[in-house]
Amino acid sequence: MLLELKKIYKKFKINRKQSFTALNNISLKFDKGEFVSVVGPSGCGKSTLLNIIAGLDMPTSGDLIISGVSSRKFKNKNWDLYRKNNIGFIFQNFNLIEHLTALENVEMVMNLIGLGIVERRKRALELLKLVGLSKHINHRPSELSGGQKQRVAIARALANDPDIILADEPTGALDTKTGKQIMDLLASVAKDKLIIMVTHNNQLALEYSSRIIRLKDGVIESDENIKEAVINKNKSTLKKKNKSMSFFESFKLSLRNMSKKKGRIAITTLAGCIGIAGFALIMGLGNGANIYIDKQLNKFANANVLKVGKNIKIKNEDGLSYTAMSNNKKDYQKIFNMKEIMTSRPFIDLSNAKIKIGNEQVEITPHSLGDKGSLDFLIENLDGELPKADEILVNQATARKILQVMEIESKNNSEAIGKKILIEIDAVKDNFEKVKYHKEFTVSGIVNEIDFDMKNIYFNYEGLSDSLKKVSLTNGTLYDYLTNQRGFEVTLKNVSNNKRVADEINKEKNGGVGSLMSLLNSGNTSKEGFLAYSVPVIFKTMFQQLISIAQMVISIFIIVALVVSSIMTSIVLYSSVVERKTEIGIIKAVGGRNKDVLRVFESEAMLMGTFSGILGVIVAFALKYPIEYLLANYFGFKLPGIVTIPISQVPFTNLTFPFATIIVLILFSSVIAAIAGYLPSKKATKMQVIDALRDE
Ligand code: ADP
Ligand code: MG
Repeated sequence: MLLELKKIYKKFKINRKQSFTALNNISLKFDKGEFVSVVGPSGCGKSTLLNIIAGLDMPTSGDLIISGVSSRKFKNKNWDLYRKNNIGFIFQNFNLIEHLTALENVEMVMNLIGLGIVERRKRALELLKLVGLSKHINHRPSELSGGQKQRVAIARALANDPDIILADEPTGALDTKTGKQIMDLLASVAKDKLIIMVTHNNQLALEYSSRIIRLKDGVIESDENIKEAVINKNKSTLKKKNKSMSFFESFKLSLRNMSKKKGRIAITTLAGCIGIAGFALIMGLGNGANIYIDKQLNKFANANVLKVGKNIKIKNEDGLSYTAMSNNKKDYQKIFNMKEIMTSRPFIDLSNAKIKIGNEQVEITPHSLGDKGSLDFLIENLDGELPKADEILVNQATARKILQVMEIESKNNSEAIGKKILIEIDAVKDNFEKVKYHKEFTVSGIVNEIDFDMKNIYFNYEGLSDSLKKVSLTNGTLYDYLTNQRGFEVTLKNVSNNKRVADEINKEKNGGVGSLMSLLNSGNTSKEGFLAYSVPVIFKTMFQQLISIAQMVISIFIIVALVVSSIMTSIVLYSSVVERKTEIGIIKAVGGRNKDVLRVFESEAMLMGTFSGILGVIVAFALKYPIEYLLANYFGFKLPGIVTIPISQVPFTNLTFPFATIIVLILFSSVIAAIAGYLPSKKATKMQVIDALRDE
C-alpha cells in the first residue's frame, strides 16, 4: 500500500470556542497505478484532504501512513523530504512562475533534488517534449494558452519523478475540449503513478479515473472502483539527492524577478548608492586631506623634530608638590629607544629670545633644526643652503619681514639670503642676575613652509650649542642655563611619522599625558607623564579634528541615506513577498525548506545591496573630480587630491590588501541590504503553501 489515511480529522478553529470540522473521520487506502477522483460540492473538504495528503497541512488527529510508515513522528524535515521525493502538484491556476520560461519552470524544482545543471536541462526538455511543448520551451507563461500552461505544470509535476500526483481541479480553468486533452495527457504520462485529482466535473471523473470518492461535508459519501487499475510497485528510477537550492539558482530567480520592477529597484539602489558613495567619499576626504596636510606641514623645516618632555611631581622644601619637566636623561630612555627615533639631545629653549633686524625688534619664533642626516626632506623646499654654525634658516614670512624692515623693495624673498640678523637671548646667571647675550647670524636659506604668516627661524643645533658653550658668564655658563631644563628634542627618521610617533608617546598607556587635542582643549598642563609635540604636529592634530567634524556632518547624511535605502529595500521585499507568492508556494510544495525560501528573498535583497554598492563605488570615484573642480572654482580652494579614496585599505582599520576598500564597501552594502531584507524574507518563510497557492 502506497498511502493510507487512518481516521483523519481536520478541525479549523473559527474562534476561541468554535471550530469547524472540515474532515470527519476519513480512512482511505491508495495504491500506485490508481487514478482517483475526489468529487463533491464546493467547501466539502476536497482541497483540505489533498493538502493533508501532500503534507502541507497537518491533520488534527489521525495518521497518514506512507509506504507502511506512520508519519506521526515526522518533523518538518521529513515532510519536506516526502514532498520533494514523492509528490507532484498540479493546480487549477497552474501556478507557474511568471518571470521564468517554460523550460526554467520545469528545471527549477529539480534544483532541490540535486540534479546537475546538464541533467536538469536534459530532463526538462524530455518532459516538455512529452507534454507536447517542444516548440514552446522558451515561452513565458504569459505567452502560453491555458492548456499549454497546464502542460508545463504537468511536466513540472513529473520533474522529480514522484509516486503521487496531486491535482486540484486541473481542468477548472480550461474549456471542455482543452480539459479533455489535459486529462488524456495526465492519464497517459502518469499512468503508473497514483493520481489523486479533485474535480467538480463528474463527466471527466467517470471518463478518466479508476476510482471515485465522493465527499460531503467532510465525510466520505461513497468510494467506488469504476475501472480496473494497473496496480504496480515500480520504484522511481530518478537518482535524487537531498539538496538545498543553490545560491546561484536563487540569485537567478531574483535577478529575473527584479528585471520586472526596474523602477522600484532603481530608486532603492539609488538611495543605497548615495549612502555608499558618501561613505567612500568621507573616507576619501579623510585620507586625501591627511595626505595633503602631511605634504604641506612636512615642509616645515623642523617637521621631523619632536619636543619631548616628561612631567614629574616634585616636592619643594615646604612639602608642597608641583609639576616640572624632568631633565634627567634616564627618564627619557624609553623614548630614545623607539625605533622611529634617530637622535636625541637636550632642548635649547630660546623662547625668551628677541630678534633684531637692523634697529627693529621683531617677534620671531626660533626653532632648532633636525640633524643634518635627517634633513633630506627639506632640501626640495629650500632656496639657498642649510645653516652652518653661525647661520640660520628663515621661512617666507620671516624673509618678507627682513626685506621690509631693511626697506628693500623686491618681488623675490630670496634676496633675504645673506642678510645678517641679531639674536638677543635673555639669560639668568646662577645668582639669578639677568644678563643679555647677543649673537649675529647670517640667513643661509629660505624654507617654503605652508604660509601661515608665522615668522619662524631655524638654527643649527650643533652650531648654536657650540657657540653657547664658549660663552662664559661670571658664575656658570649660559649653556647650562639653556639646557638644564624642559626636556629633550628627538629627531625622527621619517618626517611623515611625526604625528603618529607623537600620538604614540602621548598615549596614557605608554606613560603619556593623553591625546594632544584633549590636552590643548583642557589646558591642563600639570598632568604627569610624557608629552611630545611640535608645531606641525599641533597643526595636524587640529586639522584632523576639523576633518573629523566635517566627516561627522557628512556621516549624518550618509546614515540617513542608508536608513532610507534599508527601509526601501524592506518595502520592495515585502511587496516582492506578496508578488512572489507562487514561487514561495511552489518551492515549498516541491519540498523546499524555509531555508530555501529565505535564500530566495535574501538573495534579492543582497542583489539590491550589491548593485547599490557597485554603483556607489563608481559614483564615489567619479565624483572626486567634480568635487575638486567645484572647490577650486567656486570656493577658491585649490586642493588637488583632497578626496583620495584609499583603494587597498580596509575602512577604519590599518589592514591593507588590494582593492580592500572597494570590496569592503560592496560587501557592507549587501550585508546592510541582507539585514534590511531579513524580516520580509522571514515573513515569506512563514507563508503557508496553501495560502500562497490559493485559487484567487
Ligand atoms: P473544497 O476544496 O472542497 O472546496 P476546502 O477543503 O477548501 O473545500 O475547505 C473545506 C472547508 O474548510 C470549507 O468550509 C472551508 O471554508 C474550510 N476551511 C478551509 N481552510 C480553512 C482555514 N484555513 N480556516 C478555516 N476554515 C477553513
Ligand atoms: Mg478546493
